[in-house]
Amino acid sequence: MSEQTPDTLFRNLRLGDGTRSTIAVAGGRIAAIGTAATAGPATNVIDLDDALVLPGFVEGHIHLDTSFYGDAWRPHVPYTAGFDVRERVAIQHRNMAAAAPMDQRARNQLELCITNGSAEMRSHVMVDASVGLKSLETIAAVREQYRNLIDIQLVAFPQSGILTCPGTRELLDAAFDHGADVIGGLDPASLDRDVKGHLDVVFGIAGKRGVPVDIHLHEPNMMGVFSIEEIAARTRALGMQGKVTISHAYGLGDVPADTVRRVADVLAESGVAIMTNAPGARAFPPVLTLREAGVTVFAGSDNIRDSWWPYGDGDMLGRAMMIGYRSGFLTDDALNVAFEMVTANGAKALGIKDHGLQVGAPANFVVVKAAHIPEAVVAVPKPRTVYRHGKCIVRDGILQK
Ligand SMILES: [Zn+2]
Repeated sequence: MSEQTPDTLFRNLRLGDGTRSTIAVAGGRIAAIGTAATAGPATNVIDLDDALVLPGFVEGHIHLDTSFYGDAWRPHVPYTAGFDVRERVAIQHRNMAAAAPMDQRARNQLELCITNGSAEMRSHVMVDASVGLKSLETIAAVREQYRNLIDIQLVAFPQSGILTCPGTRELLDAAFDHGADVIGGLDPASLDRDVKGHLDVVFGIAGKRGVPVDIHLHEPNMMGVFSIEEIAARTRALGMQGKVTISHAYGLGDVPADTVRRVADVLAESGVAIMTNAPGARAFPPVLTLREAGVTVFAGSDNIRDSWWPYGDGDMLGRAMMIGYRSGFLTDDALNVAFEMVTANGAKALGIKDHGLQVGAPANFVVVKAAHIPEAVVAVPKPRTVYRHGKCIVRDGILQK
């Protein structure tokens, strides 16, 4: 039992495994769970009508600056000759020039994510010679407006390359005086064609600024594996285990199973996490193989209604379903793995220490109609009611402003 008298008691609820329970909250944090959770004379008692209480979701990879969600529909423009980051970035620049103001589009997307239950978020924001630090400053200002509703980390993301986009290196460093928390990178072999040079800049800034690393890696097959091994080697050499993420790591979806197992051991030993969003028809890293080796695998929406693809709904429970569906997850254990990817594993990868339904953690949770986590993952129930620091911020899918 907590020493503090609870100000709010949530009763008649189910925990993730379906057991019926009670949660006491004091000062915005979970004070007790189960029989230890009791009300004092002044406690506000909330009956949750046998609903399932889930920890706030972790949106581990999103792009708040480039979405057109809530703006005019932008028909997708296909590549002319296969996947090509530079061609896509040129299309993106044209679309962005015609779009609604960035802060308005970012707010639309944020409210979508919050009403679906995300409590923590990592957003990549473009930093390059064309936009400079303007996008980062805009998104950092929006983050400030929503600080009572969601915690947001911003990644300085070199969308146009580093070595091949003069001025970007200096901008990436300066980003940490303008609201960035994490240094990004992108396809060091296929885009900059200089893995060592690219990683020198990324890890150089990480060391100088004392920040984590999160690198987009679309490189296929053994090219992707080569870059993964180089990133892992840097991580070990600099003692940055637990502070480095590779987003997508598509190559691990392309190579044979024995190669995946070998690389999985390297990733686990190096403390490098993998983010995946189960990207459409694209092969992606085998979640269970990585997990069995001890790799932290987590999830994000990635692009929502932007120039890369039109899909996305900012719903991390739906993302867990997509990952489970595409991975062939059928058992309760496997469905629980998909759920961990959008909660505990995301928190671990993002360095969030007090996540989850545990005593002492912020009382951030999502209330849905389901019997337990496996059913919630396959059913993706809505609408949601969301509590943050014990206060209702979303009721039946409507943001309470
Ligand atoms: Zn991305």
